[in-house]
Amino acid sequence: FITPAIVDRDPVVIGISTGGTAPVLARRLRAAIEASLPSRLGRLAAFAESFRSAVAALVPDGQSRRAFWDAFFDGPIARTVLRGEERAAREAMLSLVNRRGALEALEAQEGSVAIVGAGPGDPDLLTLRALTALQSADVVVYDRLIGPEILDRARRDAERIYVGKAKGHHAASQDEINALLLEHAREGKRVVRLKGGDPFIFGRGGEEVEFLRRHRIAVDLVPGITAATAAAASAGIPLTHRRLAQAVTLVTGHGAEGEPDVDWAALAGANHTVALYMGLTNAGRVAEQLMSNGRSPGTPVAVVSKASLPDQRIEIGRLGELGALVRDRAIAGPALIVIGEVVAQADAGQVKAWVETLPLRAATA
Ligand code: SAH
Repeated sequence: FITPAIVDRDPVVIGISTGGTAPVLARRLRAAIEASLPSRLGRLAAFAESFRSAVAALVPDGQSRRAFWDAFFDGPIARTVLRGEERAAREAMLSLVNRRGALEALEAQEGSVAIVGAGPGDPDLLTLRALTALQSADVVVYDRLIGPEILDRARRDAERIYVGKAKGHHAASQDEINALLLEHAREGKRVVRLKGGDPFIFGRGGEEVEFLRRHRIAVDLVPGITAATAAAASAGIPLTHRRLAQAVTLVTGHGAEGEPDVDWAALAGANHTVALYMGLTNAGRVAEQLMSNGRSPGTPVAVVSKASLPDQRIEIGRLGELGALVRDRAIAGPALIVIGEVVAQADAGQVKAWVETLPLRAATA
C-alpha cells in the first residue's frame, strides 16, 4: 500500500510517488513542487476551461489551438489570473476571443516588464512570485546589489544585463535603463527588472513604471523584502513595539544632492523608530540633527551591514556616538541603521559588538 504525496491546486493535482521506497523524499519533493507552483494555478486551469469551447470554435485546427493555448499560458492574461485579478483577465480574454485573428493577436503581443524586488540578498528571501518571474524571464536587467546567488535563479538561457555601477565606470543612467527596458519589451520579450529590496523603497521603481506605462508596455509589480525589515529581523529588533515604538519611518540619509531634505524634528520624538537607508556617509550629521531636535543621545542604535548575507555584521551603540561608531569600526555598505528604543530588544546572540551598558536581550538558543 503506497500513499503518494499530493500537491493539490484543485482541479490540478500532482501526485508524487517513490514507490514506497522513501516517503520522506516524496515529502521533500512535494515541498519543492509546492514552492515552485503559483498558488492560483487551479484558478488558472478553471479559467482556461471556461473558455475552451469558445476557443475551439475560434481556432478549429488542433495544432493552431495548441499554439493558442501555449501563447495564452505564456501571456499577460494568464499572469493576470495568477495575480488574482480574474475579472480583468476575463474581460481581456473575452475581447480577445471575440476578435478575428485571435491567434495572431495573441502571438504578436508585446513583451512585458516585471519590476521585481529581490530582497536584501539571501535568495531564501525572494518571494515565490519573484522566483516565478525570474524563471520565465527572457531578459534580466539588474543592479549592483543583486548577487550571483539570486541571478542563478533566473532561467539559464536568459540574457543578463548589468546596469549598476562598476569600479571606475559610471552606472547606466535612468534614461539608458528606461530605453533598455523599452527596447527589449518591444521585441516581444519578457523582461525582469530586478532591484534590491523592494523596488519602490528608495529604488526608483516608480520612475520606471511611469515611463513604461507612458509607452504602453504591460508592467507587473512584484514587491520585495526591504532592507529595514530584513536588517531588523537579522538583529532580532522589532521595528514597532507596543511599549517602545508606535511608529517607524523609512528615511534616506542621502538626498539627490548630498544631505536629504528631511523634517528631522518630526522623527526626533521618543518611541519613534527611524530606519535610515544610505546612511553611512551622513550618519554623524543625522544623529546631530535628531539630537538637536530633542532626541536623547542615549537612544540605542544598530548598524546592520549586508543584512541576510553570509558576511552580515551588526553593531550596536548609542545615538551620541553613531558617527564615531560608523567611522571607527570601518563598516562597509550596504548598511541599514536603526535608531530607537526598540534596538535595546536586539538579540545579543546575533550582535557582534555592542556597548556593554546596553541591556540587550539574552541570546535565545
Ligand atoms: N530598494 C532597496 C533600497 C535601495 S537603497 C530596499 O528596499 O531595501 C540602498 C540602501 O539600502 C543601502 O544604502 C542600504 O542602506 C540599504 N540596503 C540594501 N540592501 C541591504 C542589506 N543587505 N543590508 C543592509 N542594508 C541594505
